[in-house]
Amino acid sequence: MPYDASAQALRPLLQTFWSSQGWKQPPQFPSTAEYEGAIEAGVMFRDTAIVDHDEWVSRARAAASRIDIAEIGDAFLASLESRRLDLRSALGSYAVARHLPSHEFTPDARGRACRVCGLFEDQEEDLNVLNFERFKWGGVRRDDVAYLAFDLEQFENAPRVPLTEAGKNAGRHMVTTLRSAAADDTATKVAPRLKSFAGNKAEREVTVDILGVCGVLRAAKQSSCKDDFVPYDSRPSPDHHFVERAYPVCWWRGSDGVDTAALTEFLPAISEGVRAGPR
Ligand SMILES: [Zn+2]
Ligand SMILES: [Zn+2]
Repeated sequence: MPYDASAQALRPLLQTFWSSQGWKQPPQFPSTAEYEGAIEAGVMFRDTAIVDHDEWVSRARAAASRIDIAEIGDAFLASLESRRLDLRSALGSYAVARHLPSHEFTPDARGRACRVCGLFEDQEEDLNVLNFERFKWGGVRRDDVAYLAFDLEQFENAPRVPLTEAGKNAGRHMVTTLRSAAADDTATKVAPRLKSFAGNKAEREVTVDILGVCGVLRAAKQSSCKDDFVPYDSRPSPDHHFVERAYPVCWWRGSDGVDTAALTEFLPAISEGVRAGPR
């Protein structure tokens, strides 16, 4: 059954974790009645999920295999018009999860995280935080397989909004802006220029993260997540004091432009109407 994505239904979830000052620490859960209402609406959860590595991996893979790529791309474009960040999130999670290999927990050099996917052997996940980040920004943990599984399973219950000409136009203008970036512009620099859709700075930055994992913004010197799963221990960070954006878009520069093949694969609804060619 679809969850309720109305502002009213989401208010308790958003207010648990966020105020005008930023993160609430500790979180401030709503009254029992409101909490029950949000659980009923399908946007909050009673318990944290304790699921082991292998199960998160198989859930992420299963969800990705059930979902139709065309639906994911249209939902992303529709989100530009509707500002439904939960619908925007799925594209990034799908792009990563569809290549996630079936594997058992394989400890990295330090013995805690899996060297393939980065998960711990038993990982407790607060589903309320994951869902908060999903609705607030479109998700921020594309390197967390539990988020991928959760996001894609939720996408199957997400009430859809139709993709209109306005959504497609917002997408086309976004691509045109990205293509017109100066050669040395970074993702952080171009994100605030994406004004063809309503949103704040953080939402635009997550949008470029998503375009990075699906290879639309592809850094020339990095392997593309579009074609293969990049193992957790093979994702280098740029030599900066502080890496601002997610892997791999942290490597992207304006000179890399927009990848036409990725655009055709993930966002076919707009791949025709945008200027082709390298920048
Ligand atoms: Zn793993
Ligand atoms: Zn430096």
